[in-house]
Amino acid sequence: MGKAAVFLDRDDTLIENVPYLGDPAKVKLMPGAKEAVATLHQAGFPLIVVSNQSGVGRGLITKEQVRAVDAKMEELLGSRKVFTAFFHCYAAPGDPYDEKRKPSPLMLQEAARDHHLDLAKSFMVGNRLSDIQAGQAAGCRTVLLHLRIPEEDRAEASRLASIVALDWKSASDWIFKQHLEDL
Ligand SMILES: [Mg+2]
Repeated sequence: MGKAAVFLDRDDTLIENVPYLGDPAKVKLMPGAKEAVATLHQAGFPLIVVSNQSGVGRGLITKEQVRAVDAKMEELLGSRKVFTAFFHCYAAPGDPYDEKRKPSPLMLQEAARDHHLDLAKSFMVGNRLSDIQAGQAAGCRTVLLHLRIPEEDRAEASRLASIVALDWKSASDWIFKQHLEDL
C-alpha cells in the first residue's frame, strides 16, 4: 500500500521566483511556507519537490547552482531532511528531452515508483496551470496556491484545481482534512 505524499512546486510556491535563480543568497521563502512544510513533514507526509528548471537547458545556470538554491531553501526551512526527494526537469521547452517537464505527470509518476507513493491519495501544490495539470494527470488532488499565479494561468488553473488556497495555512489545512477523510 503506497503512502500519501505532497508534491510541491518550488518557485513562487516554496520560494520567491527569481527567473533562472542560481544564487543561493537570493533565496527567500514564500509567506507561510516554513510553517506549512514543517506541519506536513511532522504529520508524516513524504514531501517531494517537483520543479521545472529550464535555465539549465538554456545554458543560463548549472545543475550545481540549482542544488545550491535547493540547499539554501532547506536551510531556511530549518531542516536539511524535510524533503524526501527533489525532481527537476532541466530541459528548455521544445528540447528533445523535455518529456518530463510539467505539465507532464512523469516526475510525479517516477517519484511514486521510487518512493512507494499512492498518487490517488497524494496532493500537488503549485502556483501555475502546469502544476495543476501535472498533478491532475498523475491522479492527485491539486491545490492552487493563490500567492503568485501568473495572470495568463489564473482562470484555467482556478477552474481545474481541486481547491484554490489563499495562503499556505489554508492549503495545508485542506490537505489534512482530505487526508483524514481518506483514512
Ligand atoms: Mg511555480
